[in-house]
Amino acid sequence: MKARCTECGTRYSMDSIRYECRCGGLLELVQDFRGVDAEQLKREFAKRLGERHTPLASGVWRYKELIAPELPLEALVTKGEGNTGLYSPPAVTSYAGCRRLWLKALGENPSGSFKDHGMTAAVSHGRFLGFRRFACSSTGNTSSSLAMYAALMGGEAHVYVPEGTVSENKVLQTLAYGAVVHRFAGTYDDGIRFLREQAGELGLYVGNSVNPFRIEGQKSIIYETAQDLSWQLPDWIVLPGGALSNVSALGKGLRDLYELGFIPRLPRVAVVQAEGASPFHRMMEAGAAELVPEPAPSTRASALNIGHPPSWRKAALVLQETKGVTVAVTDEDILNAKAVVDASGVGCEPASAAAVAGLRRLVSHGIIDREETAVCLLTGHLLKDTDAVGAYHLGGGPEALYANKMNRVRL
Ligand SMILES: *Cc1c(COP(=O)(O)O)cnc(C)c1O
Ligand SMILES: [Zn+2]
Repeated sequence: MKARCTECGTRYSMDSIRYECRCGGLLELVQDFRGVDAEQLKREFAKRLGERHTPLASGVWRYKELIAPELPLEALVTKGEGNTGLYSPPAVTSYAGCRRLWLKALGENPSGSFKDHGMTAAVSHGRFLGFRRFACSSTGNTSSSLAMYAALMGGEAHVYVPEGTVSENKVLQTLAYGAVVHRFAGTYDDGIRFLREQAGELGLYVGNSVNPFRIEGQKSIIYETAQDLSWQLPDWIVLPGGALSNVSALGKGLRDLYELGFIPRLPRVAVVQAEGASPFHRMMEAGAAELVPEPAPSTRASALNIGHPPSWRKAALVLQETKGVTVAVTDEDILNAKAVVDASGVGCEPASAAAVAGLRRLVSHGIIDREETAVCLLTGHLLKDTDAVGAYHLGGGPEALYANKMNRVRL
């Protein structure tokens, strides 16, 4: 297994773990697709939809040849992740305003968010190298996912969670899986910095998205979405951006599919940030060459509360390659979009609804045409942030346009 620096091209063997290049650039895995027969693989992927209790039944490991061909099946730590629904509720389509919309419900993953796609790959690689202790800095879902997989393999998880800004549901889920939860005063970005300096010495395998195996696993989100749609992707893929790992993985996955001839053209990518944590959108809008970190990010969509996204360079490249765009939306827009998604029966957490709010904004500004089609990646489950649900429906002010108040009766 080999990785390459995305900045200077230096190559590293991944027979020991490494998260960044000597030059400071992020690494990405090098896949060798020579000898891959795409048509035969397509038939194989279709056949594996009939598997039930093997590692290849997973919506990540179904695509093992394109993700981690060298990892032995016995090394995989898997819980049948992926295999999530793709829905097209008319109420959400008309709210967004485009011709056809699909919602990829990644909250249906085993720990309730898309992070499972990447974490099964990272923890499997860590176990393969002989690690038993894993760590991450997290806005919540990364820690739930890491804790779940570490528990499954009988290992140990150490998670670093900023105090006050993370959904309590996610922290409790992480505790329940048996992880050691370290809370600290600061932000996600401080946790990343701490692990960058300390993980090696502490013997910890880091499951954050600077880990290139996370990105390889997360590629399966777009593989599965494409397979769901018979390898016909829509005009746009719209997703929320925090650390920007998901858009980096999306870009790498799209490149794979295009190079292998699974899809005839690249869809365009739209990254949606919350206004209070939108350093990437501000950079793209200004056409700047460098990202200026946001020192005090603040949004109710806690999974997006990141001021210094580690993967911004990779993300910028993806937007360049796909003629992509960015947009920022307010917390009010996010929570109203969430209410529409929830009431459609699909449901998601606030950060996920940013995708739908962003799509609506892009359509209303004519950047996405009403005749175009889109997939929104709904990244996390409705029950991941029950405080947000209560605050909106029971305590919301006039800006909570779709609040569903309780009905008090005397029986
Ligand atoms: C992690 C996360 C995001 C942001 O994804 P990035 O890869 O950090 O950009 C969005 N929504 C949810 C629910 C998440 O858990
Ligand atoms: Zn480098």
